[in-house]
Amino acid sequence: MSTEIFETRESQVRSYSKNWPAVFEKASGAYQTTEDGTRYLDFFSGAGALNYGHNHPELRDLIVDYVANDGVTHSLDMNTPPKRRFLQTFEDIILKPRNLDYKVMFPGPTGTNTVEAALKLARKVTGRQHILSFTNAFHGMTLGALSVTGNSMKRRGAGIPLTNSSKIPYDDYFDGDIPDFIWLEKVLEDSGSGVDKPAAVIVETVQGEGGLNAARMEWLKGLADLLKRHNILLIVDDVQAGCGRTGRFFSFEEAGIVPDIVCVSKSISGYGLPLALTLFKPELDVWEGGEHNGTFRGNNMAFLTGARAFELFWSDDTFQNELADKIEQLRTGLEQIAGHVKGATIRGRGFLTGICYPNPDTAGKVAAECYKRNMLLETSGPQDEVIKVMPPLTISSEDLQKGLQIIEESTLAATGNAGEPSRLRPPH
Ligand SMILES: *Cc1c(COP(=O)(O)O)cnc(C)c1O
Repeated sequence: MSTEIFETRESQVRSYSKNWPAVFEKASGAYQTTEDGTRYLDFFSGAGALNYGHNHPELRDLIVDYVANDGVTHSLDMNTPPKRRFLQTFEDIILKPRNLDYKVMFPGPTGTNTVEAALKLARKVTGRQHILSFTNAFHGMTLGALSVTGNSMKRRGAGIPLTNSSKIPYDDYFDGDIPDFIWLEKVLEDSGSGVDKPAAVIVETVQGEGGLNAARMEWLKGLADLLKRHNILLIVDDVQAGCGRTGRFFSFEEAGIVPDIVCVSKSISGYGLPLALTLFKPELDVWEGGEHNGTFRGNNMAFLTGARAFELFWSDDTFQNELADKIEQLRTGLEQIAGHVKGATIRGRGFLTGICYPNPDTAGKVAAECYKRNMLLETSGPQDEVIKVMPPLTISSEDLQKGLQIIEESTLAATGNAGEPSRLRPPH
């Protein structure tokens, strides 16, 4: 079956389909099937948009029924039953049990939309312009989000100066040689530092695109305390690390911090549909009606599946506890695989974990070997030096082990270690 039209008509800007040229026709759970019937194990999960796997049957049936009964599809921010249901279940299942009181804004359907809204709101509330973000951060591709992103290739794409922001070192940027926040603390306290007081600091708890650097909980706490003392807003970009990816619903829960603003998207619909939220403390709700707007905010199918996903996975601890066991299984497996390659280290947290290889070319080769073995696996980091292992959170323990074995074989093939005996147990 031809792939010619993709190459002749579609722009060079495409990226995933260049590494994975197969034509995927169907998908279910942790698998996608191509037009010619080949099944791929998906350890990519739509970059984190498919935390509950592909086409969860119960979520799919909700959409089918809704459409078949002429439910409203498009509604800007007009009120609909699915929007009511989404907000109510979000309040009951996600916010209240965590003692969180956030206003919910629908800023447009993508991750970069929620980041833009967060930056705009922080500037409006504080009357300050400057935003601080971290080395190797990724926050999206529109100009505001790019201005707080680290990657130089993506920044260059802006074509204009990216202003009103500066970068500060993420946790362990200097390998522990320089104490945390020494620069930030000093310049905030020194009226001669020449550094404008920022409106906000935006942070990912795990840098999904920037190499799976995971901040320590003490570091996140230290950051939140420092910003509070200086009356600077803390924005957590939980677009990728949130919705259970790191083990709890929000990735910052374990740190015991309460950010002023939280950006959520990717898996918030539970089904891979476009939806984003910007959450903020009620006292920050200074918007005027329509001051931030967008045609595609009220995605009713995404509201329906998102609300049902809260009920299915987060109404008690069952899912979170099962996930904790699988996180352990993943970590153990990856540690054993890293043991085959001298100098390889584990990066990340939860189901957003990977291996950083000492030779930056290795990760791309491992990912290519995985693809040959019918598995989708991405790379991450400024030199794509890290393999990024992101199975659906709903994956079975057997499929998880199967994927780990493919990563092990691929690592051995990519590093020319093919003779080494496997250390991984067969699927149990
Ligand atoms: C993916 C991502 C974004 C951007 O989301 P889009 O939907 O691609 O615009 C922003 N922040 C983080 C942390 C992300 O992983």
